[in-house]
Amino acid sequence: MSDLLSIAQARERVLAAVRPLDAEPVAVAAGLDRVLATDLRAAGDVPPFANSAMDGFAVRAGAAGRRLRIVAESRAGHPTSVPVDDGEAIRISTGAAVPAGTEAVIRVEDTGEEDGKVELLAAVRPGQNVRAAGDDLRAGAVVLRAGTPLGPVELAVAVAAGAGELTCARRPRVVVLGTGDELREPGDPLGPGQIHNSNAVGLAALAQRAGAEVLSVGRVADTPAATEAALHEALEVADVLVVSGGVSVGPHDHVKPALDAVGVSERFWGVALKPGKPTWFGSRRDGTLVFGLPGNPVSALVTFGLFALPALRALQDADPALDSFPAKLAEPVAQEAHREQAVRVRLERERGELRVTPTGPQGSHILSSLLGAGGLALIPAGAGELAAGEEVQVLGL
Ligand code: AMP
Ligand code: MG
Repeated sequence: MSDLLSIAQARERVLAAVRPLDAEPVAVAAGLDRVLATDLRAAGDVPPFANSAMDGFAVRAGAAGRRLRIVAESRAGHPTSVPVDDGEAIRISTGAAVPAGTEAVIRVEDTGEEDGKVELLAAVRPGQNVRAAGDDLRAGAVVLRAGTPLGPVELAVAVAAGAGELTCARRPRVVVLGTGDELREPGDPLGPGQIHNSNAVGLAALAQRAGAEVLSVGRVADTPAATEAALHEALEVADVLVVSGGVSVGPHDHVKPALDAVGVSERFWGVALKPGKPTWFGSRRDGTLVFGLPGNPVSALVTFGLFALPALRALQDADPALDSFPAKLAEPVAQEAHREQAVRVRLERERGELRVTPTGPQGSHILSSLLGAGGLALIPAGAGELAAGEEVQVLGL
């Protein structure tokens, strides 16, 4: 681990190993958190027809004071084909088609109704209260670009644009394994020297959020045979294998040799990063990516965010760039001589300025220090400290 890579170099190596996954059709209602694989165009105008923005009366434009005979009604979903003359009006509700022969809608509040007639208490401009066809989206226009992650708004827009099915990148299949004889399942009683396997659940949740299909979440004992068997089994099904722990140089760290034995080639081991120095990354001939993340809980989650998350995005052909923004340090932070630090910070806005404060002790075992952290402030390596007020780059969490 003599030549540590910078965070940026390590991420470049990860991205260089990514082979984007194929696309597949997905029902639009099942599209949340998927990534669009082809441009989506509007099938027709949205709205598809000129319709009323108000409950009121569809009329021709003209002066106030007119009394018009109500000859028909246009309701949402029930247009009318009754022709309209000067001197006539059609009752209309919001979203209903504006009938041929009318030019505008006068809202009900500006009218009086008596004996089948409506009195217009205000003048009416052409087009008033009418939402034109194609106001929102034009037929044929590109509405969403390939590579767009689909959130609730994108899905609603896609449906409005006429889509019933979307072409999305296949979800990366992920297996998460925690290594360590000390690990117990969530909620199980702990014996001497044991801890709960918190990494596996946290890492699986991060993967899921990134659009992955998590196939299994497990733990492996610290023996070469068990490690090799578990990795072998995972590699049968996974596009991405995330292993935590066992990648350091202790006598019970078996992950690296086991990965070698099952045909995964090392692409890097060691990043000039705190927390997360022993991060390992490799890939197999078939394109499977393997992340050997440090076991310490903060290191595992942070390195997943820095390296595995961009890979999951890139596998789906989405922009892998992490959300990053400048902010000022609210208090001084000591630098590390040879490693960039990813410091868990709270975000606060003070007089329009974004300020960041470390969440507390930054030990890589203090998992609770990630609670309430809005980002990771990147502190460059150096001999001194960054003073309060200095600007740093922050990665959003
Ligand atoms: P290792 O990288 O295996 O040397 O583990 C480093 C530290 O992380 C040790 O304190 C482990 O007990 C802890 N650790 C390893 N795996 C996990 C896990 N899955 N969940 C929580 N803590 C872990
Ligand atoms: Mg271990």
